[in-house]
Amino acid sequence: MQKLQSYIHGQWVSGSGEGVPMVDAVTGETIALSDTKGLDFDQALKYGRKNGEALRNMTFQERGLMLKKLAFYLQKRKKQFYEVSFRTGATKVDSWIDIEGGFGNLFANASLRKTFPNQPFDVEGDPIDLSRGGRFMAHHILVPKEGVAVHINAFNFPVWGMLEKCAVNWMAGMPAVVKPATNTSFMTEAVVREIIKSGILPEGSLQLISGSARSILDTVESQDVVTFTGSADTGRLLKSHRRLLEESVPFNMEADSLNSSILGEDAKPGTPEFDLFIKEVRNEMTVKCGQKCTAIRRVIVPENLVEDVQIALGKALAKVTIGDPRLKEVRMGALVSKDQVQEVHERIQEMTKTASLVYGDLDSPKTIGADANKGAFMSPVVLREDRPFENIAVHSTEAFGPVSTIMPYKNLSEAIELAKMGKGSLVSSIATNDDKIARDYTVKAATHHGRILVLNRESAKQSTGHGSPLPLLVHGGPGRAGGGEEMGGKRGIKHYMQRCAIQGSPTTLTEITGVYQANAKYKEAEKHPFAYHWEDIQPGMSLKTHNRTLTDTDIVNFGNLTWDHFYAHTDITSLDGSIFEQRTAHGYFIISAAAGLFVYPNKGPVAANYGLEEIRFLRPLYHNDTIHVRLTCKEKVDREQKGQELPSGIVKWYVEVFDTNITDGKIPEDEAEEKEALVCIATILTMVQKKQDTFTE
Ligand code: NDP
Repeated sequence: MQKLQSYIHGQWVSGSGEGVPMVDAVTGETIALSDTKGLDFDQALKYGRKNGEALRNMTFQERGLMLKKLAFYLQKRKKQFYEVSFRTGATKVDSWIDIEGGFGNLFANASLRKTFPNQPFDVEGDPIDLSRGGRFMAHHILVPKEGVAVHINAFNFPVWGMLEKCAVNWMAGMPAVVKPATNTSFMTEAVVREIIKSGILPEGSLQLISGSARSILDTVESQDVVTFTGSADTGRLLKSHRRLLEESVPFNMEADSLNSSILGEDAKPGTPEFDLFIKEVRNEMTVKCGQKCTAIRRVIVPENLVEDVQIALGKALAKVTIGDPRLKEVRMGALVSKDQVQEVHERIQEMTKTASLVYGDLDSPKTIGADANKGAFMSPVVLREDRPFENIAVHSTEAFGPVSTIMPYKNLSEAIELAKMGKGSLVSSIATNDDKIARDYTVKAATHHGRILVLNRESAKQSTGHGSPLPLLVHGGPGRAGGGEEMGGKRGIKHYMQRCAIQGSPTTLTEITGVYQANAKYKEAEKHPFAYHWEDIQPGMSLKTHNRTLTDTDIVNFGNLTWDHFYAHTDITSLDGSIFEQRTAHGYFIISAAAGLFVYPNKGPVAANYGLEEIRFLRPLYHNDTIHVRLTCKEKVDREQKGQELPSGIVKWYVEVFDTNITDGKIPEDEAEEKEALVCIATILTMVQKKQDTFTE
């Protein structure tokens, strides 16, 4: 029998043991043997750390483009992955979530490159001034950790489970060692084989252990990050591993979660919300045969609607056809293994000590195109627990299959309490068209959930659903759900980086961060900064303009031109009791006049005005005040060429407008004097042409 290989130390290798059979969930046939005996996990971790340098040295822009390229590459080969996925029991829809949902994570993380600086590390948040004179300050930077990300994954999403994590650690600049669950590792292996073949990632960025790896944590180090998805028991065991404690290795856990969905009191039968609720519960029970960490396990409904929900859900489930997942007419395929079916049956038996079984049974179901006795099939099962405050098994027993329990509540406070009895969940949802109910539920239940979805007629058409974790949203939950947090856009990427507070002068911090910091020394430009190409512009490059006096007529004319007739600009008899002393220049006039001073009129490398990020008016300017401007390069953000346009990048310019009058009409003699006269700051963006393209897709 063929052995599944692992990819470590830059090569595909097989174990030296007898191997464990991996079984087709639909036919019961053995697919291959998983064997990791004799593989040197410590060497794999060391190899990842050593080779991680290539990723660490790439800028966010380069990493993002790499992910995008990989996503397109895999997307082209998706058909072959679907064929393998059917053997895990997954239907086409289930496989789409796993396979293309995984690629979606690569795309979404790739897009985040635009929100990071054009360098290998991030500069986070606002600068912090630590002195009155502006000569000592602090900032926070985040650098890629020098270790490996070790991902121990569950069986249910062999592709998505890998890519939702790897997309994030690769964006951060960290390599990964992936250890999928043994029984579906053949699916993960099929995708990893293509990733390696593509040559898109620097060697060492991805290693795969196709099967058991009990000693993998024995040699982890403080620069590594470990993530785990699976059962709470295994999670707790790994979390308390001595090596993790000794080396302070971050450990992110995502375990069993008894997610709830609430039917709002307003969502009576006949309302769109009632129908949406039933559809959502049915979907969550049957997609992936309910083997989803986000599936709805607890269906919490107003006590007078329990019968209605039970009947409607029963009718919806009766339409669910079970069988060979390759067939179009089949809605629900097989569970991952017969052992998993047995496990789910045992959990149902635990819960039915108090709850009653009101839909489905534990016999082999009727199947289409597959032998029910050979495959891991079971019917959806609905339980009903009428005393959910006394009988708590339904809040603590996770039947990881197509199983949900209906339970009643009297008022919203009870619904919130029941939701919280799950002791921390990944997700909860509420179907209501009453935004007051939505608000009360969300704000009070948020402590116990990583995500809350409000379903109503307005959002329904575009809703991504209760069970879909999205790359830009946080995925994880408190307490029982593991207490971890994955994805979440930039938040997730930062889990793989070390945050470091840096202190020093603004000039030094400008050099370190690559971002001009207010009060840093200017680098006077030899010619107008707008006359330079992208490559020749550096943060700190600066221009001081000539002066302009803002006259009374200018202010009146600006008001007439724009129709902005706010009293401070037009009616000097109305200023008593206001913060203004004289006719005041419009803020928009100040920034427009500033642009008039700093813009370089000749045709040059500046292709376009790209926008304005921030603007502050620090104090009023009156008629006859004279201003001058400082234009300083704050930061450069690279971008790839689009279509036929000329290659260009974005330059952010820090604009400071000064009141020249403060210095008696003279040009300020030193920077300290100049700072006192600051009246307006802004960051403007220009698109600046490059001499040559630095990015190709
Ligand atoms: P496990 O917790 O047994 O396994 C999860 C992962 O951990 C697998 O890759 C497994 O590898 C690995 N693992 C187990 N023990 C160790 C160890 N000592 N050292 C290193 N790695 C280890 O979960 P299962 O996948 O078997 O699923 C069991 C139950 O977990 C389900 O029935 C369900 O209740 C729950 N579950 C919850 C999920 C969630 O996201 N909430 C997802 C999946 C499962 P190997 O396969 O090689 O043993």
